[in-house]
Amino acid sequence: MTPRASTALGSLFDLVPECLVLRGRDGRILTWNAAAERLYGRPRAEVAGLAGHEVFAGDPAWDPALLDPTGEWRGEVTRTAADGSPRTIRLHWQLVDGGLEILEIGHDITLARAAEEALRKSEHRYRNLFQAMAASFWELDFYPVGEMLYRLRKTGAITDWPAHFAAHPEFVREMMRATRVIDVNDQTVALFGRGDKQALLTSVEPFWPEASSPVFAASVVAAVTGAQNYATETRLRTIDGVEFPALFTACFPPDTMNKGTLLIGVIDLTERVAAQEALARMQTEMAHASRVALLGELSASIAHEVNQPLGAIAANGAAGMRWLSREEPDLGEVRALTERIISDAQRAAEIVKRVRTLASGVPPERLPVSLNAIIRDAATFLQHEIRDAGVSFATRLSPDSPVVQADRVQLQQVVVILALNALQAMSGAGSARPALTIRTATEGDEARLEVEDNGPGIPEEARARIFDSFFTTKPGGMGLGLAIAQSILRDCGGSIGVETAQGAGARFVVRLPLCENGSPTHTKV
Ligand code: ADP
Repeated sequence: MTPRASTALGSLFDLVPECLVLRGRDGRILTWNAAAERLYGRPRAEVAGLAGHEVFAGDPAWDPALLDPTGEWRGEVTRTAADGSPRTIRLHWQLVDGGLEILEIGHDITLARAAEEALRKSEHRYRNLFQAMAASFWELDFYPVGEMLYRLRKTGAITDWPAHFAAHPEFVREMMRATRVIDVNDQTVALFGRGDKQALLTSVEPFWPEASSPVFAASVVAAVTGAQNYATETRLRTIDGVEFPALFTACFPPDTMNKGTLLIGVIDLTERVAAQEALARMQTEMAHASRVALLGELSASIAHEVNQPLGAIAANGAAGMRWLSREEPDLGEVRALTERIISDAQRAAEIVKRVRTLASGVPPERLPVSLNAIIRDAATFLQHEIRDAGVSFATRLSPDSPVVQADRVQLQQVVVILALNALQAMSGAGSARPALTIRTATEGDEARLEVEDNGPGIPEEARARIFDSFFTTKPGGMGLGLAIAQSILRDCGGSIGVETAQGAGARFVVRLPLCENGSPTHTKV
């Protein structure tokens, strides 16, 4: 080592984390520091005086002419580390000591490069995924909305974001206008933009129908309250203004949120919704067909119900005629009889109206209805069957008058199905003292309806299947009653189950969510 080099490379240089190599103008290595010893795995005494290519086989041929006019050169080389692994070294050469020697500063950038590469690959993978997914994806710049919300928060006036958004729909639209579309995938272009990607790279506002604004607001609330994601069904709009049902999902991963970017996924539900609508139509039609069939089964009751007032009308009419044919007609008596005729005619008309509603195929309408009133209505239809079957019938109706959200006619249908099944089971088994009890009760936030008989019960092997369509144990049975009852109840958020033991009767239990503050369409009973 020259005296100069040894002064230049004092112990201070060993503290530098970069690999420092002092080289002559001919490229020969004069010495290097501790970091270079560690990386390249050779003590400085061993390399002193060696030519560059003897130590670094892969380096480009040494050429001092590489140095620029200020005496510097920068470049990257691949060198072999002590453990034999290739390392990417970023080099900086600089003339020192009045131009007699060259100081080489080397940064091992292998790890940084690998990280950059991994990032590039992951970005590439993400882009590929973004493009290849079957759903529509949007990358949005949410930063301006973040600023709007920040400014609003600073005023201190807002504590309840959902309430604020609900009260200021124009602010929600403004947030939409401030949300810029950075990128969309091909699916999005096909679904929203009639093939024109550029047309989509605006704000998100045109794609949100007015009625869906609360969903946008809810997703902003989710984003600002630290939720990880938000998903819901809503309606969105194409660039041509065509609305469609969609599953909307927004992801708020912290790293993208910090950059102000948001990822949105949209799945077109048009076909699913169409299929659901077809299914709902089919269920309504099935329920209707089953009601018509039930009416057939109830025809004796209905005829009896209508005949009674008709008979009374005829009798009262005849009596009235007699009072009129007297020498001194008793008009007071005739008035009383005529009043009875009118009320009997109204009773008959009421029965006909009920049969009509049950037979009509109008789509179900969900309104608050009194469960007790439903039982009363259904019981009128069943009276005759109950009497004919010699069954003792009791109702135990809850004094709370539970009110549920349901279609009145459909709920009546459920009660009639359960009661008729009970009557048929008891008469089929020849029960000695057949009894049918219908109860209503409230239990927490649920209404409970029970239809209980003391018939043969349901054998173990049939229990799991009675709610299946077309499962029947009756000759001529359709096996649709319980399946329809179940689907009606599910549609209004309820459920049905059975408690039974062979030979010990059956108790069908229906649960429905109680209506919170609905007023019944029926009078309370
Ligand atoms: P169906 O009355 O046409 O058979 P359902 O779906 O109403 O169709 O009933 C399915 C089956 O469930 C009946 O065939 C019967 O075996 C059983 N079941 C229903 N209710 C009772 C009951 N109360 N007691 C005993 N078995 C019953």
